[in-house]
Amino acid sequence: MQTIETYNFEGKKALVRVDFNVPLNDKFEITDDTRMKAAVPTIKKVIAGGGSVILMSHFGRPKGVDEKLSLKHIQKHLEELLGQPVKFAGDSVGDKVKAQAAELKAGEVLLLENLRFYAEEEGKPRGLAADASAEEKKVAKAAVKETQKTFVADLAALGDTYINDAFGTAHRAHASTALIAAYFPNNKMFGYVIEGELKAVDAVMKNPVRPFTAIMGGSKVSSKIDIIMNLLDKVDTLILGGGMTYTFKAALGGKVGSSICEPDKFDLALDIMRIAKEKGVNLVFPDQTLIADDFSNDANVDICDSMEIPDGWKGLDIGPESCAEFEKIIKASKTILWNGPVGVFEMSKFEAGTKTIADAIVTATAAGSFSLIGGGDSVAAINKYNFADKVSYVSTGGGALLEYIEGKDLPGISAIRG
Ligand code: AMP
Repeated sequence: MQTIETYNFEGKKALVRVDFNVPLNDKFEITDDTRMKAAVPTIKKVIAGGGSVILMSHFGRPKGVDEKLSLKHIQKHLEELLGQPVKFAGDSVGDKVKAQAAELKAGEVLLLENLRFYAEEEGKPRGLAADASAEEKKVAKAAVKETQKTFVADLAALGDTYINDAFGTAHRAHASTALIAAYFPNNKMFGYVIEGELKAVDAVMKNPVRPFTAIMGGSKVSSKIDIIMNLLDKVDTLILGGGMTYTFKAALGGKVGSSICEPDKFDLALDIMRIAKEKGVNLVFPDQTLIADDFSNDANVDICDSMEIPDGWKGLDIGPESCAEFEKIIKASKTILWNGPVGVFEMSKFEAGTKTIADAIVTATAAGSFSLIGGGDSVAAINKYNFADKVSYVSTGGGALLEYIEGKDLPGISAIRG
């Protein structure tokens, strides 16, 4: 397998799949350019090696050509980040783009238009009537899969090498994230973003220094089952927090008031507890809860046993005793994985638990432990406290990271590894 570090880019046009799916405000200003910044080292590496770069990305979820979701909105900022001009193609495929790519000289950068303006990128039919029959859906899907082949071939023809650096879409088998790799059997590689992500996740999931503690939070157990199950094979301690824990407490016969609770997951919750015991995993729950009489920062609050939440009250954060317990476990861990806040950290009244976890991870990291933070809201929490550079790795992956941790095969990764 080729690597970006050793590949000779001299005179080569590198097709680089990046994740430029950044948030914009209503004035089309970028409100968080983390993903764009992350792609810069890969782009610069190709240029420094004497190559040129053709950038491909999706942007939002357009249903067709949509000016509001054009990548032209990010062109100027990309030029600032790279410190050089960037040509904007105005389309992803077609004769004009072909000519622009052919004319590209060493050191130049060409940005293609939002790939998802074409249904072929995702390979999903568009414009189907809401009442379309199963047969109509099947025919439409087959049709787009057919035109997708031409789309992939046209994209691939633009470059000499293919670099996938979009970890955030690596769990999708799309044209630019996976299918295109087949055109570059000997010239495909990961960019630095994906290399970094895989190294960090593998450090945690494949060779963890022990003790290994995972902290899983978030609202519902139903969305975290696969991860929890996979983690039970790997971790020494699994701390569960957040809304999902009330399902476990209720399954054990506790009173959870009006906290988030999924009664149809009681059996599953009991199964998880049984399996953890069988595997010798220390499964830790917050035994103390910060309760509120309203889902609001102005609510009245109190602290109680997590099995005895009064009617009309809901658990919105872990209590101080649980904070202290979690802190102690985290500080004694050598490998730490964190996904999901342990309370409604968006409101200051219910953020203490999540802040305690973040603080403890920072302390453990400073003392030499390896910490990986991943999945939407825990990343938001780490950023809220400006701790991103005080932990070992903050994943940009979201869904892709979670699927990788679940042990699933990611099409964007296997297409390169072959
Ligand atoms: P998830 O997307 O499942 O990771 O959930 C993240 C969300 O869970 C955040 O927006 C938190 O505010 C929310 N959350 C965490 N703890 C609780 C709780 N005890 N009750 C309700 N929501 C919670």
